[in-house]
Amino acid sequence: MTYKTLTPNKKIALVAHDHRKDDLVNWALRNRDAFLGHELLATGTTGKLIEERLNIPVRKLLSGPLGGDQQIGALIAQGEIDVLIFFWDPMEAQPHDPDVKALLRIGIVWNIPMACDVATADFLISSPYMQGNYQAALTDYDSYKNRIV
Ligand code: PGA
Repeated sequence: MTYKTLTPNKKIALVAHDHRKDDLVNWALRNRDAFLGHELLATGTTGKLIEERLNIPVRKLLSGPLGGDQQIGALIAQGEIDVLIFFWDPMEAQPHDPDVKALLRIGIVWNIPMACDVATADFLISSPYMQGNYQAALTDYDSYKNRIV
């Protein structure tokens, strides 16, 4: 089994669909102190809102429907994101629904701690692993990579 070590200084990605942005901003405001020592990145509009409301720097990617979710997925695949907070909208279809599914999928492929609702995000952010090291087990994909096609 191989592991990825998540160090105390984590890269946290934030994404919220429009109807979930208030939930994310309110959650982030409540947990502002817990972000200290971590690095935040987000899809464009989410990042702008968090930056403005919390007055902390956020690396802003493209807006989700313009490719931001895919950028976050690519960063996960490259090992550059440790935690994903993704408040997707369960009540409304999105123009970029395939990207939403792809982001959720790639998060599982790379065993990324993911929260999609406020309660899970609370559990995640208050975990001792957030401020310490964590060994995230990585699935061995060698047999997949070496398959004969
Ligand atoms: P946004 O994108 O932060 O730019 O609104 C979020 C999304 O819809 O994935």
